[in-house]
Amino acid sequence: MTMNHLFFMLTGLLMLLSFAPKKEIYQVLSQHPHDVEKILPYISTVKKAGRLWLVEIHQDLPVQWRGLFRPTSQRVLHHSIAPRTKNLQAPLPLIKEFTQRVRASSIRADVEKLCSFKTRATGTLENQQAVEMMEHFFKSLGLTTRRQCFRSNACNVIAEREGKSPQAILLMAHIDSVGKKFAGADDNASGVAVLMEVARAVRDYDNQHTLRFFITNGEEQGLTGARYYVDSLKRSGEIKDILLAINMDMVGYNSNGFVELETDGKFQSLALWFSQLVTTYTKLNSKITLGAWGSDHVPFINADIPSLLTIEDWSTKTPCYHAECDLPNTLNYDYAAEIGKLNVAAMISRDRSGVGF
Ligand SMILES: [Zn+2]
Repeated sequence: MTMNHLFFMLTGLLMLLSFAPKKEIYQVLSQHPHDVEKILPYISTVKKAGRLWLVEIHQDLPVQWRGLFRPTSQRVLHHSIAPRTKNLQAPLPLIKEFTQRVRASSIRADVEKLCSFKTRATGTLENQQAVEMMEHFFKSLGLTTRRQCFRSNACNVIAEREGKSPQAILLMAHIDSVGKKFAGADDNASGVAVLMEVARAVRDYDNQHTLRFFITNGEEQGLTGARYYVDSLKRSGEIKDILLAINMDMVGYNSNGFVELETDGKFQSLALWFSQLVTTYTKLNSKITLGAWGSDHVPFINADIPSLLTIEDWSTKTPCYHAECDLPNTLNYDYAAEIGKLNVAAMISRDRSGVGF
């Protein structure tokens, strides 16, 4: 074969490749074990990194499961370890003072309390009792507290301390579980317990903006409570007053010291801002995922509200995800407390700065 032959063969091959139709890549939008089991025979993984899972779909994928995927075109998708920025500002003494109030032992006690309900599945009597417990808790802190029911047996709880401005900084966690007996410790008693501890920690902080604590319900049934709340804010026009909405879902199982920060590409600067707070105010490192899915921050992001999920490192997440073994004694409470410190720092930092994202 001459060099000319080789040249023409290679050029032909390249032309063929460039004209071959490109296969669409999809992002997987549910990693619940029962969904994964269903879809696994019909997909080929292109990339799996942290919360980000990209696949090609085989043609024989049953049509009713298409909703578990989203085409990746026109969307910024990304996963990486966040750099530990050099020459960071020293921690502000005021913020440090409030972060230091977060106690692992109180988080543990609240996780145990939440898991003493036989179930927290949405619509059950026990779920409603857990909602009542949250109302009592917030009232005991002197917060203005209300429940918002999206069904007769399913309610969110919204508690706040008004600031001088109606604009609000919101911290949320879902109280419902998938319903395994006395379980749901990591998913998501951990998020609720850390939220309670943050509310205690900032109890006598002199807030400029409204600090709002939002207990969502029906998360495991398609983010029902959070969607309902965001729709109600859109109808009343109050949606424009949400400056920042932070979500905590599964913040208790970890041994590598990483927290994953997840939002969409349009709020990349928010993720970077959070990663700096991680470095300044906690012992943790962070990973950033752009391409939000699968928890209550999604309806806020879709409404263009700066919103971010703080979650345990997804590549080493609890082996008891949605299983009976998701029990309080499997959690790392010092780790959960670090995420509490992070979100105390985030709420106060946002409250004191004029920064937008
Ligand atoms: Zn969850």
